[in-house]
Amino acid sequence: MEGIASNLREIRQRVHDAARAAGRDPSSVRLVAVSKTKPAGMIREAFDAGQTLFGESYLQEFLEKCDDAELEGCRLEWHFIGHLQSNKVRSVIGRVSLIHGIDKVSTAEELSKQAVKRGINADYLLEINTSGEATKYGMQPLEAKAAAETLFRLPGITLRGLMTIASPDPAQAETEFRNLRLLLDAIKTQAPHPEELTELSMGMSGDFEAAIRQGATLVRVGTAIFGWR
Ligand SMILES: *Cc1c(COP(=O)(O)O)cnc(C)c1O
Repeated sequence: MEGIASNLREIRQRVHDAARAAGRDPSSVRLVAVSKTKPAGMIREAFDAGQTLFGESYLQEFLEKCDDAELEGCRLEWHFIGHLQSNKVRSVIGRVSLIHGIDKVSTAEELSKQAVKRGINADYLLEINTSGEATKYGMQPLEAKAAAETLFRLPGITLRGLMTIASPDPAQAETEFRNLRLLLDAIKTQAPHPEELTELSMGMSGDFEAAIRQGATLVRVGTAIFGWR
């Protein structure tokens, strides 16, 4: 391990280069530092190196870290990137600026209910199973298209785009990233406010450059910043 600050420098450079190589503005890709299983001290180290956006997957762990004394006074932005069940929605809402892992209409409905109750708006992404692997979470693409009309009508929440976890095989992963972008384009044509659908959350430590080539706006990188879990 070279240390978190130098890992971050390297990853930012690679994100920048991948965006440029794809003819994209590097500022159109945001780096989500995935800190799950890592202690607050490491998040602090990343924050001191200029990283403000972090992603967590496990609710209990996230809630503990949010309030950790080590992070007091740090202006962090959190995304919840794990799979979110309906009964966990109330604990996450209001604490994160984006929820990546919604994959059921019923969960979105619960999110809507909780947002309305609190008088706030919650932004979320729909998780899509682009690989077809039965072990993965996520809506099937056709299911997402069919659900979109219902989702757009839910008050208090805004669908901002799509998220996926791709197959381990790099060539396959790139096809899946492209398919996610095409699906977002298709869903936009159904949307009352297509301009809100700006986000493609795709790409992790092993495949973020391919994801950027295919249009990722949020890359979720853990291991390459914080080391093995
Ligand atoms: C853990 C995790 C990541 C980060 O994966 P790395 O391979 O460590 O970069 C990204 N996205 C999700 C949803 C995760 O759970």
